[in-house]
Parts: sequence; structure tokens; C-alpha cells
Amino acid sequence: MSDYKAPIRDIKFVMYELMGFEEHYQTMPNGEDASQDVVEAILEESAKFCENVLAPLNSVGDEQGCTWNDGVVTTPDGFKAAYEQFVEAGWPSMTHHTEYGGQGLPESLGTVLSEMTGTSNWAWCMYPGLSHGAMKTLELHGTEEQKSTYLTKLVEGAWTGTMCLTEAHCGTDLGMLRTKAEPNEDGSYAISGTKIFISAGEHDLAENIVHIVLARLPGAPEGTKGISLFIVPKFLPSDDGSVGERNQVACGSLEEKMGIHGNATCVMNFDGAKGYLIGPPNKGLNCMFTFMNTARLGTALQGLAHAELGYQKSLAYAKDRIQMRALSGVKNPDGPADPIICHPDVRRMLLTQKAFAEGGRMLIYFLAKQVDIESHAQNEADKAAASDMLALLTPIAKAFLTETGFESANLAVQCFGGHGYIREWGAEQNVRDARISMLYEGTTGIQALDLLGRKVLMSQGEVLRKFTKVIHKFCEANKDNAAISEFVEPLAQLNKEWGDVTMHIGLAAMENPEEVGAASVDYLMYSGYITLAYFWAQAALVASANLESSEKDYYASKIKTARFYYQRLLPRTQSLVTTMKSGAANLLDLTLEEF
Ligand SMILES: Cc1cc2nc3c(=O)[nH]c(=O)nc-3n(C[C@H](O)[C@H](O)[C@H](O)COP(=O)(O)OP(=O)(O)OC[C@H]3O[C@@H](n4cnc5c(N)ncnc54)[C@H](O)[C@@H]3O)c2cc1C
Repeated sequence: MSDYKAPIRDIKFVMYELMGFEEHYQTMPNGEDASQDVVEAILEESAKFCENVLAPLNSVGDEQGCTWNDGVVTTPDGFKAAYEQFVEAGWPSMTHHTEYGGQGLPESLGTVLSEMTGTSNWAWCMYPGLSHGAMKTLELHGTEEQKSTYLTKLVEGAWTGTMCLTEAHCGTDLGMLRTKAEPNEDGSYAISGTKIFISAGEHDLAENIVHIVLARLPGAPEGTKGISLFIVPKFLPSDDGSVGERNQVACGSLEEKMGIHGNATCVMNFDGAKGYLIGPPNKGLNCMFTFMNTARLGTALQGLAHAELGYQKSLAYAKDRIQMRALSGVKNPDGPADPIICHPDVRRMLLTQKAFAEGGRMLIYFLAKQVDIESHAQNEADKAAASDMLALLTPIAKAFLTETGFESANLAVQCFGGHGYIREWGAEQNVRDARISMLYEGTTGIQALDLLGRKVLMSQGEVLRKFTKVIHKFCEANKDNAAISEFVEPLAQLNKEWGDVTMHIGLAAMENPEEVGAASVDYLMYSGYITLAYFWAQAALVASANLESSEKDYYASKIKTARFYYQRLLPRTQSLVTTMKSGAANLLDLTLEEF
């Protein structure tokens, strides 16, 4: 069943009422082209495409999957036509530089549009999603010649991009990668090696594919300090920029996998393929971080997408499906039973999904705004503040939103009962598609180490303090507002506790560094719950001022969902504090023989 409806009302609430995007866009380059009227028209157009074209293809992609035949990969029926429509409408170029054919609109608008494409059909949206990361990498690190050759084609959508990091023996630990880059006489490099799990590595949507590949130069230092970054096109560009000779890179096979069947996950063989260095030698990982950070926010969005889709599906079902009577008496006297949405436990499951989806939207749009500011703010202090915010909140968004997105997708199945386990409704596909989000772009465990080890403890808590100060200011400013005291008071307490817990782990880690790894995932989830609580409190503040408006039901729903979040989800922080503080010994005491 393909019944996605773009949540335009809530998107506009977050953009305009909560995050002040209208004023924000006026401070961005080309901001005059992103007035609220124009943006709303763009949102409506995108919603139509997602609801009418992409959503119906979601189950088609799942059932058919991609097929491989002698190196040629064919995407499911309808994927290519949808991509052609997407390109014709100019969607790929929306947020890219005008000098390379882009429309120059703010990056954050692209994130908002990706929420819709991603929720309607995650597997399909990965094709343009990876191109977007490749474009960002070239924009920042490519030479002028590379930009005019590759970026223009990617911006147009005529070519797509990939990111090629993973090899069979190394996923997390890229320092071990072995793909080689030997210099050719003409200044290019011969790239040899095998990359696995490459999303969108080969397909029939576009005339060329631009692989962004990590490889080692001869004599490069061991580990991550000896990795360089290369462009390796499937077809070498001719002098006039069109597609030329076939390069020595091919898809050896497709992975059979749990979900996202419509996206081709490829084994890519580079057999002396011609490649071109991007950025300085041996600094490839630094340049690739541009791609990885874009992809991490993109994957955080995937968590939101699965929570939203599961919620939409299970809400419609719960209003329609009748089973048993409500405990407090008959609610549907004309029928033999009451709709299951009357039962408190079904509401618990629906509200959990709603709270994570709407809360996730707030966090992601906030981060999207920080990306705009980091790139284009007028002054360095604003840029630096946005960078700090992104450094702290990107691992939280990536891991917390994908974990809670998966929980939500799972709860959606539960709302359907046995019917959720059956293909017809799409709820089980949503769970299978969601599962990868906690694995790629750095697993939850790796995001947690990045957050606690690299970001928080290595900065002596400074990066965290910058955010807790923002929360503190919000709590102080609203401490006398009785309408939202039920949110502000617990938020202020937790905000203080966040610092205390961090200090506790920091001290324990000085005695035993394993304490960091032992606490990290609980710490990340704990941080995620508080972060979302901050956004839910802001939403409640805006809503509380609009309870008499013509849309009072919408705003009342916001406050009641915030209350549910605070009373039923936020208390999870307390069990996380207990487990974090239990220390590393209960994990490390077992000897290998005792396992
Ligand atoms: C469908 C799909 C699409 C993908 N798309 C791409 C793509 O487009 N491009 C690309 O380059 N890659 C891609 N990947 C690869 C993906 O990014 C990796 O699978 C991921 O980074 C994990 O690496 P790994 O599988 O080698 O697991 P490993 O690195 O072997 O990790 C195994 C487990 O050990 C844990 N672990 C490892 N080191 C530590 C540590 N120091 N501390 C604590 N725990 C640790 C991990 O968290 C994980 O739970 C894709 C994978 C899949 C399945």
C-alpha cells in the first residue's frame, strides 16, 4: 500500500514557526529567491512528486529489487522514469552553485525536500542522495577543471555519484584499506582494488557514474594518514564534456540484502581504472569527511523517514481496524467493536512514533540551518558556533534518530498486529529498510565513540558546554512561563545532570580508558533524549501561544505530544544513567574462555 502524505503542515511549523527560516533565508546568498511563498510552492510541487510518483514505487522496488547481468545493473520498473522526471523538473540542481548550473537555493531547503523523497521511497532517494554528497565534496575540494567537468553534469542530474570507502576487510577501520593508486604519465592515476557494499555503484538511471574513491599512493604512510581521494568515472569524459571511453571499473555483483532492495549495493572492481586526485595527497580522509558528514545527516534523515512512514501507516490502520471494546465503555456503538486507536497501548505505540518523527524533524531542520550558517554566515563567530553545534549534534542525530526510527518502524508493525508481518501493508518493508540506517555511515557504536570520546571528552567538555548553555538560556528565559513549566523544569534538571554524568565518565576514563567505550552508546542515547526534549519544549512554547488560534487542534496536539514525550520517553534517561555509571567491569570481566 503506497499511501504517503507529505506532512506539509508540520514541515512549515518547524521551518517557520520554530526555526525562523524566513528571516534566516534573507541572510543567505540568493535568499531573495527563497521567500516563504516561493518555498511553499516548491514544497507543494515536491510533495506531489513524492506522493504520486515515488511512493507507489516503494513496494515495487522492494519486490523486484535490482538485477545484475554481466556487469549491467537494471533498477526496478519505474525507477528510471521517475529519475528522468526528477531531473527534468530540476530537483538535483536546487541547492548547488549557480556557476555550475545550480539554482543556488539554501542547502537546508534540500534537506527538507529530501525528507519527502526519502520517506516516500528511501531506496530510490539514495541515488540522488549519493550524488549530492559527491557534489558537495567536489564543490569544496575539486579543482576548477574537475568542477567544470564533473560537477556540472552531477548538478544537472545527467551523471550520478557514489562514495567508495569500504573493502571486504575494512569498514569501520579505514586505516587498513588497500586499494592502490599508481601515478600515470599524464598526471592521472591507475586505481586498482575491490570496494564492497557500494550504494548506487552501478545502475541504469544516468549516462555516467562518478565514483569518489579512497585509495593509497605508492609509499604512502600506514593507516589513515596515507589515504588519498580520487574521482573515478565509469566513462571517461571526452574533450567536449560528453561521455567517452569506458573506464576499467565494473560492478562484479550485487549484494542480496535485508531491505532497500531498490537500491543497488555493488561490489565494484577497479582494474587499473583511470582516476584523478581530489585534494592533497594523503589527505583524502579529510576531504572524504565532507562526504561522510553530508551522508551522516542524510542517514539521520532516514531515521525520521521510517518513523514518519510507520506512523502514517499505523495511524490510518488504527483508526480503521476495530477489535474489542475500550475498557471505559463502548466508543463505536454502531459497530461490533471499537477502533484499536481507543486502546491505551495502541496509543502508546502511535505516540512514540509521532514524538520521534516530529522531534526528529525539529532536530534535523535545526542542523540543516546550522549547515547553511556554517557555509554562509557573515561573521566568523556565527560560523564557528554553527560548526561546534554540528560537531556535537551530528553523531547524536545520526545514531539516536536511526535507533528511534527503527524502534518506531517496529512499533508500527505491532500496531497492525499479525497484518503488520504480512507484506501487503508495507509496515514490514519499513522495518527491513530502516535496519541499515544504524549500520552504514558509521554504526551506532562508532557514532557514540565519536560523540563521547572525540567530541566531548577531547574538548574537555567544551563542545557540550556550548550546547548546554543554549539550553540553560532557554530554561532561564522561560522559567516563569507557567504554560510550559512542566517541560522547562525537568529540562533544566536534565541539562545539569548531563554535565554531571559527563564529568563522572570523564573521571572514570582517566583511571581506565575502556570506560569510554563501555558508556558510549548509553551516553549517546541519553544525549539524544535530552536534545529532543529541548526541541519539544520549544515546540510547546510556540504551541502554547497559539491555543486560541483557528488551528487550535494542531497546537493542542503539539503540547500533548510534548507531554507524552516528557512523561513516557524522557524517563528512559534515568535507566541510561544507571547503566552508564555501572562501569566497564561488567562488560570486560568475562574472559574469552568464559564466553
Ligand atoms: C546496504 C549497505 C550499503 C552501504 N553503502 C556503502 C557505500 O555506499 N559506500 C561505502 O563505502 N560503504 C557502504 N557500506 C558499508 C558500511 O558503511 C559498513 O558496512 C559500515 O561502515 C560498517 O563496517 P563493517 O561492515 O566492515 O563492520 P565492522 O567495521 O567490521 O564492524 C563490526 C562491528 O564492530 C563494531 N566495532 C568496530 N570497531 C569498533 C570499535 N573501535 N569500538 C566499538 N565497536 C566497534 C561495529 O560498531 C560493528 O558493530 C554499505 C553497507 C551496506 C550493508
